[in-house]
Amino acid sequence: MKWNELSERVLTGGQITRDEALAIMESPDNDLLAVLDAAFTIRRHYFGRGVSIHVIRNAKSGLCSENCSFCSQSAVSDSEIPKYPMQTVEQILKGAREAHALTAVRYCIVTSGRAPSEKDLETICEAARQIKREVPVQICTSLGLLSEEQARRLKNAGVDRYNHNLESSERFYSSFCTTHVFTDRVETARIAKAAGLELCSGGLIGMGETVQDRVDLAFALRGLDADSIPLNFLDPRPGTPLEGLPRLTPADCLRMLAMVRFVNPDREIRIAGGREACIGSMQVLSLYAANSMFTVGYLTTAGQGYQADMDMINQAGFTVTEIIE
Ligand code: SF4
Repeated sequence: MKWNELSERVLTGGQITRDEALAIMESPDNDLLAVLDAAFTIRRHYFGRGVSIHVIRNAKSGLCSENCSFCSQSAVSDSEIPKYPMQTVEQILKGAREAHALTAVRYCIVTSGRAPSEKDLETICEAARQIKREVPVQICTSLGLLSEEQARRLKNAGVDRYNHNLESSERFYSSFCTTHVFTDRVETARIAKAAGLELCSGGLIGMGETVQDRVDLAFALRGLDADSIPLNFLDPRPGTPLEGLPRLTPADCLRMLAMVRFVNPDREIRIAGGREACIGSMQVLSLYAANSMFTVGYLTTAGQGYQADMDMINQAGFTVTEIIE
């Protein structure tokens, strides 16, 4: 396969096929830099060398009713993690100020649980209203399954984007979660879009899915018209049902990022949880396909630290995307 011919096709309005996406996933390590170079041609066309920084806040941790087997906050996890109920408006607002100080363009407020309660939704809406008045940062929320009315309330409160990951393919979904189904997630993603919220939806690889499942995920996200695609790499958490799984190789993570870039060429692609654990010393290469990243850690795990993230971006000649004032 001539990877640069694929990127030329994508940049002239064409699309890659499932078979070609699969070929990227199955390409040999000797082709890795060529694959990334081709992905970078597309990334550079749409985003230059910019990297948008996101900061995530776990506003309600643990105690979830769902059984997602990768998740340390799930009902079937014995992980030792902080567990606390919904934070206050002031705590969430303080987190937005801190994110802004870290040059974040986006502040992602996440709550554990199947769906938001009325009380929790109102707390999020009030926090969003206050953040919009005071802090020049875009707001994303990730609160689980949503009704149309709840999505409209978030939009009216000033929330810009809603996160709801598909996680994996429809075929594989019931292998790691049975308390809700793939189509529930698709429905919430559609509801968020229909309410005028940008859609952030991505997935998690490394749960034992096949490369076909990863390709299916990439095409499903394209079908949903996801504006932003976070990709997580399983760092098996002690106390979860997936704790014994091996980590992905850095090359497999990088091929996934490249393949998703080919399938969703003009979308924001974010390196998310598991970046440090799975990609390790090769993580700077992920920026040749992705154009966004979280800094200062994830929901229940720490990152490599803000300064290390900034050094990685700057030393490779990338630039932090400026905050919209
Ligand atoms: S719904 Fe979210 S918080 Fe609950 S177990 Fe699944 S991933 Fe974890």
